[in-house]
Amino acid sequence: MGEKKVKALSLMSGGLDSTLATKIIMDMGIEVIAVNFTSPFCTCTSRHKKELGCKNEALKISRQLGVDVRLVPKGRDYIALVRNPKFGYGSAINPCIDCRIFMFRKAKEIMAEVGASFIITGEVLGQRPMSQRRDTIHKIERESGLEGLIIRPLSATHFEPTVFEKEGIVDRNRLLSIEGRSRNIQIRLAEEYNISDYPCPAGGCLLTDKRFAEKLRDYFEHNQDDDDYIRQMEYLKIGRHFRLRNGTKIIIGRDEAENERLILLNRGENYLVESEFPGPVALIFGEKSDENLSFALTALKRFNRKTPENPVYIVSRGTSKEEISHISEFAEELTLYQIGIDR
Ligand code: SF4
Repeated sequence: MGEKKVKALSLMSGGLDSTLATKIIMDMGIEVIAVNFTSPFCTCTSRHKKELGCKNEALKISRQLGVDVRLVPKGRDYIALVRNPKFGYGSAINPCIDCRIFMFRKAKEIMAEVGASFIITGEVLGQRPMSQRRDTIHKIERESGLEGLIIRPLSATHFEPTVFEKEGIVDRNRLLSIEGRSRNIQIRLAEEYNISDYPCPAGGCLLTDKRFAEKLRDYFEHNQDDDDYIRQMEYLKIGRHFRLRNGTKIIIGRDEAENERLILLNRGENYLVESEFPGPVALIFGEKSDENLSFALTALKRFNRKTPENPVYIVSRGTSKEEISHISEFAEELTLYQIGIDR
């Protein structure tokens, strides 16, 4: 049995569970290749970091474990899936079942390319309400055409043994029976394996965030085309967002870093409202109409306690630039139009 050379493909998030799962299989002398899916919705991706968080972690951990890792971006096809998931959403706009099927299908293709015999994941039965229930785990496995080809080392004894366990290629006695949300066993195991650096222990996904979900729903409602999705998703992560009755979206930066990011993302495409005194900037995704300017300037004043008397604002787009000092206050309460706040 030990003579048979098998390879496994590990779905490596960069978090603790998939790291442990990989380690357990590697310790059986099985060669492991890792695949990491990068997502525009990963909360480990910090805008203050130069490199993308999760991808970075998966690379770092894979390097530590000595496994090759393939990076697969969740791209435009993934955005289409989030727009319209076959199996619906969880508590926010997280299409967890479809998302898992998406990753498993891609993993199946890679499995064939690299000559792996089975897939390993860090899944734990009952850890996540939507995608890690027994019935959904089976559904996901079926839908991705991977029945009998997935081993979950942390939770394996809760499932029927795969052919690889039956044939002794994978030692089932060394697989675990973790179940539920507690992470105590994983943390103890991490100590045993001397794994100390796992900054994103349970993974983080903006799609599970109700405020972000509201902004993304608004985006889907007002944009039918996802060509520019990378930049559009980045906009959703920063600033205060408002949608006016006339359909215009206005974003106000909340701090200097967000102001800079908004200007950078905008590339001169939408109207930018800024001032010569310190304070937030506004982006207007619409016309330079009196209504839109009135809203933007009122918001800029509202969110800047240090606005001087008779402030002057500069409105620019591309090469056009105009100074504005007098505009009537927006008459209604601004938060009525804000997206992604608790009401
Ligand atoms: S939480 Fe996010 S990344 Fe995880 S399965 Fe759900 S949608 Fe996918």
